[in-house]
Amino acid sequence: MKNMSVKLKITLWITVLMAALFVLLLLFMLGISRQVVYQTAMQNLSDTVQNNVSEVTLTDGKLQLGEGFVYYHSGISVLVYSQNETLLAGQVPVTFVAQEPFESGRTRAVLSGNESYLVMDLWVPAGWDSGVWLRGVVEAPDYRSTVRNLLYVALFALPIFILLTAIGGWMIVKRTFHPLDTITKTASTINEARDLSGRIGLPPGKDEFSRLAAAFDGMFERLEASFEAERQFTADASHELRTPVSIIKGACEYAEKYDETEEERKETLDMIHRQADKMSSMIAQLLRMTRLEQGTEVARMEKTDLAQLARSVCAEQGYDAEHVHLEADKPVIVRADAALLSRLLQNLVGNAIKYGKPGGHVWISVRCAAGEALLSVRDDGIGIAPEQQEKIWQRFYQVDASRGDESGAGLGLSMVQQIAQIHGGRMTLESILGVGSDFTLHLPLAEM
Ligand code: ADP
Repeated sequence: MKNMSVKLKITLWITVLMAALFVLLLLFMLGISRQVVYQTAMQNLSDTVQNNVSEVTLTDGKLQLGEGFVYYHSGISVLVYSQNETLLAGQVPVTFVAQEPFESGRTRAVLSGNESYLVMDLWVPAGWDSGVWLRGVVEAPDYRSTVRNLLYVALFALPIFILLTAIGGWMIVKRTFHPLDTITKTASTINEARDLSGRIGLPPGKDEFSRLAAAFDGMFERLEASFEAERQFTADASHELRTPVSIIKGACEYAEKYDETEEERKETLDMIHRQADKMSSMIAQLLRMTRLEQGTEVARMEKTDLAQLARSVCAEQGYDAEHVHLEADKPVIVRADAALLSRLLQNLVGNAIKYGKPGGHVWISVRCAAGEALLSVRDDGIGIAPEQQEKIWQRFYQVDASRGDESGAGLGLSMVQQIAQIHGGRMTLESILGVGSDFTLHLPLAEM
């Protein structure tokens, strides 16, 4: 039983249950059949005797039977007896030899030899002290033959009934469990092929299997995203860490081989330090992006004033007010994770300064336009060529790696893009090479 499939178990239970119900019904029918047969016979007997009462008259001790008097009807013999129980009319059935005392109005079973009879008497009075007895006698019905017939039918019907129930049950169970087979097959395929892109894809519905399939699909979706993020992280980290590591290794080997002056040694150490800083900030950024992708770091969306946020970032970062100008007078409310938006703004302003001209300017502005909240960071720096403007959002893409300080790894804008998407927003860029760039974040306004 333990190793049996659930489908087979349910079919078996259905079949056993139905067979049990069938037997119960049969027992019930057998139980009531005796009573029904007897009651019908008794009713017939009583009706026949009572119908004859009006046909009996006794005038001056003389019995007269009307034309409608029935002596014999459907096995029922009707007899007329005098007050002292002498037979006056009718024919007693040959095998009814019992000396049954008269008792008016009660139908009863009487045993006569081996035969069983039903007897019903009625006292038909004529005046104060005389009258006649009417007696109806009928052979007791043979309910055993009814039972026997019923049993024959049941014996023939039961196997057919069980077979049909088993086949019907199996078909219903198989049909019902079909989605479960699909779920199992998909899960096995994913497991064997180690490919998380497979989906069960049951049509949407409210039943248990549809909900289970949707839950599984959701789980596969998350697993796939999680594995993809992990794979990307490993690939990116191992690829991008190779350069600073080989620079550090080279510097160490050089320092070991050649006698460096105190000044050269300091330079080497500074370089190693800068490369280590770069690696550490890159790992930190990569980890953050991976966690956001995997959903391990969840954005905490709250009503946030973009203008206030921009003011705080400027104050905290200590931007030089002579070169970094802020236009954020009116409150602009959005639903956002303030920490993530601060990171986005810092990345943009950092780039604007990094890729700006010496003594150049940066303008941060917060405003509403066309039903959107806008946060833009504009500079009068080196600008970006049109063919580069699509690519700069990719991870590790740098237009000119030798530009800017060494801490850049081409991850800043990729993170900006990711944060914008998490907030249901988008980034736009307008830039002219040699003139400057304008990076704008578009966010939906929070409902008031
Ligand atoms: P990183 O600054 O670390 O190189 P980013 O992802 O922040 O990486 O930027 C990608 C590239 O886009 C940069 O290398 C730079 O070439 C270009 N870029 C970003 N911001 C600006 C800007 N304000 N002006 C000109 N070029 C920019």
